[in-house]
Amino acid sequence: MMTPAILEVAPLPPGTCMICGCNSGPMIDTMVQYDIYGRQYICLQRCVPMLAELTGYVAPAALEELQATCDRLQTDVAELGDALVAEKDNKVVSLEDFRKFAKSGPVTV
Ligand SMILES: [Zn+2]
Repeated sequence: MMTPAILEVAPLPPGTCMICGCNSGPMIDTMVQYDIYGRQYICLQRCVPMLAELTGYVAPAALEELQATCDRLQTDVAELGDALVAEKDNKVVSLEDFRKFAKSGPVTV
């Protein structure tokens, strides 16, 4: 098996992507050659991303973006958790304080 290569153009006939038929942009030269069909190329613009997505591959740039989003969301969750705890501390009275309050009798104004 020959190692595929990326080329700026598809120089050998038919000179098109074996999947979508386009003939522009960089192509992966599969190094596969058939007498009837010619050289087999796959375009980088459309078909490689489609095949990558089909196999579950995530492009490094997209992965970086997802990681940044995940980091931001984790920070948001942590901040919301801190805010919730702070709010809870402001509104919740300890049982001991409640007992003291209950023993102090009715409040007169
Ligand atoms: Zn294509």
